[in-house]
Amino acid sequence: MPEDNPIVTIYKYHNISSAHQLDLPYKSKCNNVHGHNYKVEMWITGSLDEHGMVVDFHHLKREVNKLDHVNINDILKVDSTAENISVFLANNILDLAPDRIKHVKVVVWETQTAYAEYQIDNSD
Ligand SMILES: [Zn+2]
Repeated sequence: MPEDNPIVTIYKYHNISSAHQLDLPYKSKCNNVHGHNYKVEMWITGSLDEHGMVVDFHHLKREVNKLDHVNINDILKVDSTAENISVFLANNILDLAPDRIKHVKVVVWETQTAYAEYQIDNSD
């Protein structure tokens, strides 16, 4: 009965400015503390709650804002690469409504030409 319980995909993007530092075993300017203006894009597919939402857009913003104007190394427990940032955000978004969310995709643009993408399929 898709009419009774529609599965909807929502999309949101945010821009954040954050510091980070990698710990690579080879010579790299990424080993110095530096900043990026990240663009974070999110696609969330799921059934609707009693308010007619997959998830509240403001709650998505709250998750992304955990990484805004901070040193991301202080937040992530793993290397602060765009790859790991996408995993961190996708897991946190799924945790907002794990019973209803079927699929999460997060794209983290570290520069205008480089991104990492992570998807979670929670559709059973
Ligand atoms: Zn960097």
